[in-house]
Formats: sequence, C-alpha cells, structure tokens
Amino acid sequence: MPSTTAPPSARRAIPPVPVLSLAAFMGGRRAALPSLLDGADVRLVTSGRIAIGLALRALGVGAGDVVLVPAYHSPSMVPPAHWCGADVAFYRILPDTAPDLADIQAHLAKGRVKAILATHFFGIPHDLAPLRALCDRHGVGLIEDCAHAFFGARDGAAVGSVGDYAIGSTMKFFPIYEGGCLVSHRHRLDVTLHGAGAGFEMKAALNALEAAFAYGRLPVLRLLLALPLRLKSALWNARKSRAANGTAAASPAPALAPSSSDSSFEFDARWTDKRSSWLSRAVLRCVSPARIVARRRRNYQELQRALDGAPGCRPLIARLPDGACPWMFPLLVDRPQPVFEALQRAGVPMTRFGASLWPGVDASVCANSVDLGRRLIAFPCHQALDDAERAWLHAQVRQALDACAAVPA
Ligand SMILES: *Cc1c(COP(=O)(O)O)cnc(C)c1O
Repeated sequence: MPSTTAPPSARRAIPPVPVLSLAAFMGGRRAALPSLLDGADVRLVTSGRIAIGLALRALGVGAGDVVLVPAYHSPSMVPPAHWCGADVAFYRILPDTAPDLADIQAHLAKGRVKAILATHFFGIPHDLAPLRALCDRHGVGLIEDCAHAFFGARDGAAVGSVGDYAIGSTMKFFPIYEGGCLVSHRHRLDVTLHGAGAGFEMKAALNALEAAFAYGRLPVLRLLLALPLRLKSALWNARKSRAANGTAAASPAPALAPSSSDSSFEFDARWTDKRSSWLSRAVLRCVSPARIVARRRRNYQELQRALDGAPGCRPLIARLPDGACPWMFPLLVDRPQPVFEALQRAGVPMTRFGASLWPGVDASVCANSVDLGRRLIAFPCHQALDDAERAWLHAQVRQALDACAAVPA
C-alpha cells in the first residue's frame, strides 16, 4: 500500500496500515457516520486510481480535454487522466487544503476543462456545495476524491454524495491488500467488472493474512497456515528463480496483483475491468464499520492530546470535526527533516503526503501545496492499533519533537 515512506522491507514496530484481527469483526454494523457505500451505485475495483480513471471515462473525458487536479495531491491521481487522453492542470488549495475557488474559476475561464477532482484530505470533509454550483454553471463534471474519507459527512451531505462520481481507496481504511471503489449517487454506473483470476485471489488473501501475522494478529490461524504458507514461499522462490534464469523471459508471467498495492503511483490499465478480490469484498462486508469510525476518531484525538504543547509543531486541523473519520493524523512541523529522520530510525510509520508532487507543480503554481508537502508529517490513527502500540507511537513522536526542539537550528 502506498501510504508509508519507509521502504516496504523495513521492519516497523507497529502496523502502518490496518491489519486483520478477530476484533475487527466485532463492534456492530451501524457506524456513526455514513460511508461511501451507502445508498449508491457502487463498483469495487482494485484501487482508488482505477476508480478515478473509470469516473473520468464515465464523464466522457477524452483527448483535448483538461482535468483539474488539486496542486496538493498524490501522484497517483494524475495518470488516470492521461489514460483517458486528457491533459491535467493543477488548481490551488487554501492553507487548510480547501479548494481555491477563485483559482478554479480562472482555469474554467480558459476553457477545455471537462472534470474537476476535489479531495477531502486526511478525511476531513470539505463543504463542496460552492464548487458543485460552479461545476453546474460551467457544465463540468465533479469527482469527489474520497481516498482519505471513506466515512463522513459535512452539513448533512454524506461524503461522495455531492460529486457526479466519487472514488474511494478501500485499502486505506480496511485490513485488505488491494481495493478501491467507484460510487455515484447521481448516475447509474455503466461499468462491468471481471474476476482477475485465481492467482490474484490467492495473492490478495495471503498478503492480507501475512500482514496480520507479521504484527502478531490471528495467532491461531497463523499456526494452522504455517505449513501451507511455507509451501507457497517455496513455490514463489522457484517461480522467481525460473524467471531469473531467463526461461520465462519469452512470455513473462503476468503480474498477479496491481502495482497500486505496492507503494507505486503507476496506473496499470490492465486492472480497469477487474473486480476487487473475494477476500477484500468479504472483509468490507463483514468487519464492523462502527468500530473503524469510533477507533479512528478516538486514536486521532488521543494523539492530538499527547502532542498538546509539543514544541515546533501544530496539527493541520485545530479540532477534528464531528463528521470526520480521519485517514491519518496530519502534523505540521517547523523543522520536519530532523524529526522525520529521528522517527524513521525508531521505526515509526509515517506518510509525507504531498512531499513528491507532479513535475512542474512548484511554489509558483501553489505555495500552500509546496509548504504542506515540505512540513507535513502524517501519523497512523487506524483502527488496528492496540493500546500498547498507540502508547509507543505517542511516546516516540513526543520524544522526537522535544529532542529536535532542544537542538538549535
Ligand atoms: C491514495 C490516493 C489515491 C489513489 O488511491 P489508490 O487506492 O492508492 O489508487 C487518490 N487520491 C488520494 C488523495 C490518495 O491519497
């Protein structure tokens, strides 16, 4: 999953993303907040970026069109527009990540804009009513990027209900290896998906289980699966060494799973018609949404309290709104590099969202985006963190901030 900056091989003390556990299935079905899957036409695909591509296609985006993307973004948001043949232009955001409507208007005045992507960053829903009105006046499609906001509402509007289409990255919120969703409250989805094959199903299931085992979850299942998993590794190694010997070079084995699940920003069009795996869909159906919302909110607020008064930093958002289910906890740090390096050495999982922006997006395009990309460090607040893991995380972050503040710049 592309949500941490540490190399995937680095051993981390706590799970950077949700992992499966028995507790995930307890806690009830009724979440305090609406979700992307409520009362809408939904397609479960293998990543959020594939859903963006499908949403753009559904809006009729093609060659000669322009898609507006926030200057503060994940690089995975751009290639889906290129897949449709469109050009991308970047619009400014305000210091709190809200879309800069005046700048969007300036882009609209140039013509050619066919669709706008608007992102609820870190899970804090924006009021998109003004942008919706602007899109309606100009006949432009609105895609709500809910990759960080699977759950939530703002002023009575559920996340995903304002855009013509909405996309989600289910793998950012659920303990699954791959998954995204395309949703619409306003249009029927004319999208047919197919299974991606037994190899993919197997890989998606094993990777989700192995992620859980790596952090001490599901110990009984781990014992039961020890022998089959060892066999699987042997088979993988055999396959890899065959490929290395060149015997498979003439017909390279097709990728069993999309690169979107492996810290990559690529868009692989071979996955545009593939359904999310059986295990991912089962987990989405069976885990408790109430628990996800309640624990993410609690973990976020707990971390905010733990960092209260810490030197050289402030939370991006002063107070978690009632309608938000956070993706991560975004902290603005005055001197981010030493703090980041200290925490990296300690094995703390972090994301520096926006640290690498699309080539050409610099301070002349949007100074706020560049500043956020430079100063923001986001910490996990996902539902799978247990008491000891959260206590460890709080202590590490607090300690790094205190230590770095004690060293003169
Ligand atoms: C992660 C992300 C996406 C893409 O989601 P994937 O599931 O990784 O393809 C889109 N938009 C934003 C804001 C993201 O952070």
